[in-house]
Amino acid sequence: MASSANQLPPIPEALLQSLASVPGFERRSFMAAQQQAAVCSVRLHPLKGYDLFPEAAPVPWHPLGRYLDERPLFTADPLYHAGAYYVQEASSMLLHHCWQSIFSEKKTPLRVLDLCAAPGGKSSLLASLLDEKDLLISNEVIRSRAGILHENMSRWGYTNTWVTSNDPRDFGRLPGYFDALLIDAPCSGSGLFRKDVRALTGWTEANVSLCASRQKRIIADAWPCLKEGGVLIYATCSFSPEEDEDILRYLTMEYPVASIAMDMPAAWGVTPIEANGLRAFRCFPDRMRGEGFFIAALRKEEPAAPFFYPRFRKAALKKADEAARYLLKPGNYAFQEDPRQQVSAIYPWHEPDFHFLDGSLYLRRCGLNLGQAAQKDWIPGHDLALSIDQNEALPKWPMSQSEALNFLKKESLEAPVGIAKGWCLASYKGRSLGWLKVLGNRVNNYLPKGWRIRMDLPEDEDPLA
Ligand code: SAM
Repeated sequence: MASSANQLPPIPEALLQSLASVPGFERRSFMAAQQQAAVCSVRLHPLKGYDLFPEAAPVPWHPLGRYLDERPLFTADPLYHAGAYYVQEASSMLLHHCWQSIFSEKKTPLRVLDLCAAPGGKSSLLASLLDEKDLLISNEVIRSRAGILHENMSRWGYTNTWVTSNDPRDFGRLPGYFDALLIDAPCSGSGLFRKDVRALTGWTEANVSLCASRQKRIIADAWPCLKEGGVLIYATCSFSPEEDEDILRYLTMEYPVASIAMDMPAAWGVTPIEANGLRAFRCFPDRMRGEGFFIAALRKEEPAAPFFYPRFRKAALKKADEAARYLLKPGNYAFQEDPRQQVSAIYPWHEPDFHFLDGSLYLRRCGLNLGQAAQKDWIPGHDLALSIDQNEALPKWPMSQSEALNFLKKESLEAPVGIAKGWCLASYKGRSLGWLKVLGNRVNNYLPKGWRIRMDLPEDEDPLA
């Protein structure tokens, strides 16, 4: 269904053989689809980007998913950096539909763990689905990848999305705490051959087995943190049954679980899988407009002691008064200060969670980073510039595309006539990009150094033209 040709090396015969009896696999059309270019899609931010790409075809299973006919240079689009949309593979957006069919009637706030979250596609999707009262812990064990997850979750701008960088074992020490656990497991990646040729050239049967063992270990390590009746959503971007159906089978053999049924309109082309009482869905690129993906949901039926919050003492934080003026509803938050004097705002109903998790996990982003006090000034955090809770009355510097890109590259800027001295938000098409401080004869750019655009961009080119 994808359009242009994609000259890929041959698909490994061992993979094709392993799929021979998989429902929905049809060798000839599967091979033909692999010769087509990968599908390009984005998911719009419900507050910052809902009106973008008006001409693009909708992704049927996500109200804010859009197919793009060609892949633009996203790095050169300031709106991408503003978090107005996320570049996400269309099949992955099925999580939206699955989540809604499971939790549409939820009555109490949820504590949700996205255990393998970098770079943040599923976490940002969930963040937009959850309510303010819910809490999303978005975790990535690999420290270097936790950085990009942090960046993407800041861009997405939700206060109730916290970022951690912990080993799955660390969550095993929080028994019965989470209502929902998403394991989008590291896998052999055969579903993404069209997007990433390295997944194809590096594919081996041995690696599939290695991934399957790791997947079981991740599940076993994190399993205790899910409460009785809690939901595990397991997903991979591998076609291999060893990493998909066999892992579900392992789960039913090792733990008391029940498979959760989800409706899936036949018109979407997603392949339902039903075997030994287990239900799941697989996306084949020759049957739908998206890459390879597998998803299943199970309910934990194991009795577990109910979770209770430990007692804690509320700490009043005076310095936060200064920062509160940057917030949409200043009275609506509790404030925390970390050892580096960085102040973060969290929703007051998540204060017990903060006190519970702070001692057990490495909290990289705990709510909304407001910044820090400095002599007579307040240095606002970058997080705040991108937050959906930011006070919209803050001073703004509306930028042209080339000014916005200079800001994002951390290159020098000249303040336009009439702009007031002091802190202001670099803004592009009404969306904030970061902080600037306008001084008498110069402008200081407060974009975090590590988040700047490092690649050379083609000059005077509209990335989305
Ligand atoms: N959920 C992400 C998204 O939608 O953007 C993609 C996750 S990717 C498929 C799997 C993630 O698991 C990677 O970020 C990888 O670094 C992480 N990972 C690798 N080994 C892991 C392990 N042993 N335990 C937990 N996570 C691991």
